Amino acid sequence: MKNPFRNVLTQLKKTQKIINIDQRLIKHLKQPDKIIQVKVALNKTKKLRIFKGYRVQYNNLMGPYKGGIRYDKHVNLSEVKALAFWMTLKCGVAQIPMGGGKGGVSIDPDKLNEEQLEELSRDYFKKISPDIGSDLDIPAPDVNTNAKIMDVFVDEYAKFNGKKDYGIVTGKSLKNGGSKGREEATSMGGLIILKQHLKKIRKKPQDIDMVIQGFGNAGANLAKLCYKQGFKIIAVSDSKSGVYNKNGLDINKLLIQKEKKGSVKNFKEATNISNEKLLELETDVLAPSAMENQITQKNAFKIKSPLIIELANGPVTPKADEILFKKNIDVIPDILANSGGVIVSYFEWLQNKKGRYWSKQKVFEKLKKYILNSFVQVDENKKKYQTDFRTAAYIFSLKKLEKKYIQSLK
Ligand code: GLU
Repeated sequence: MKNPFRNVLTQLKKTQKIINIDQRLIKHLKQPDKIIQVKVALNKTKKLRIFKGYRVQYNNLMGPYKGGIRYDKHVNLSEVKALAFWMTLKCGVAQIPMGGGKGGVSIDPDKLNEEQLEELSRDYFKKISPDIGSDLDIPAPDVNTNAKIMDVFVDEYAKFNGKKDYGIVTGKSLKNGGSKGREEATSMGGLIILKQHLKKIRKKPQDIDMVIQGFGNAGANLAKLCYKQGFKIIAVSDSKSGVYNKNGLDINKLLIQKEKKGSVKNFKEATNISNEKLLELETDVLAPSAMENQITQKNAFKIKSPLIIELANGPVTPKADEILFKKNIDVIPDILANSGGVIVSYFEWLQNKKGRYWSKQKVFEKLKKYILNSFVQVDENKKKYQTDFRTAAYIFSLKKLEKKYIQSLK
């Protein structure tokens, strides 16, 4: 079984070789603060069905635990721990006062109907509710969860707590205290970073071929936004198939097909391609936007794109990182590239606390300011330490955590 948490420890070790970080903090960061494991049940089915649910509260030095909840058949404790660790560092890179957490239920949501999905969500949230709170731990959407499920969480929490508190989760629907722009925030953040990087290398969107793996919230919105900006998107994929056309795909048509048929597979103006082959295509930008461990030591040497932007969490393993670095391929890491989601989650939380809501324009203006500031600082670290983007982002975030840690001892 793949063990994403082992990747975390390797990445941490690599960073320590470059800078001195307080050993006590490093010792803390090798383990989460708290692991919550719950039994999630579907009682209303003829045969009782039981699943494993998790919430990992990794670290709250910077603020309340923050991070999404995913429903996926591959969810396991090692994965949730890794994702919760990355959230800790992501909030540090984003410079928002939040810590890191993550949750998940080990289930294939495609096998559930709407009612069962709601029943599962309610049972899971009821079980983790004692550990959730707007100043304690604030979940959000992740793989296979969305605003509708966040609304169910708010409702279930109200039952547990006697009153509605919108600040306990982010990524809610607009009518339930959500923020404008939250849905596209992850992809918008990625686009802002991508454009900034292209500016640096004196390229325009029109010059760029792009391949996107994953067509969920992050991948589909990235495709939509980039297509509008004039990028040529030559391939995208979902869990069923990839589709490729070297002259570019009509993303608007593809979005309609996905909505109607549930997959991008067999798109008329393209040929089907496997997810593995898609990663190896000749392109200018590759955006893995699905799951972790997609680019590993097995296929890293076959990657041709000179730039990888990680909209997914953990798609490139540490061993692959080494190979890509030697091949001069830049990897803009998850904890920076997809931080737009949690940044706008933070804005949503602020709006809930103040009871005042912002325009989409204000949300995106502020997002741009936050994420560009992080990008510039990570880039400076990259130059200063002559390292890759990921290690530079780790250095930047760990230094912030270290400062907080030392303060907390006084
Ligand atoms: N699930 C998203 C992530 O991995 C968003 C987390 C959040 O908004 O708390 O960054």
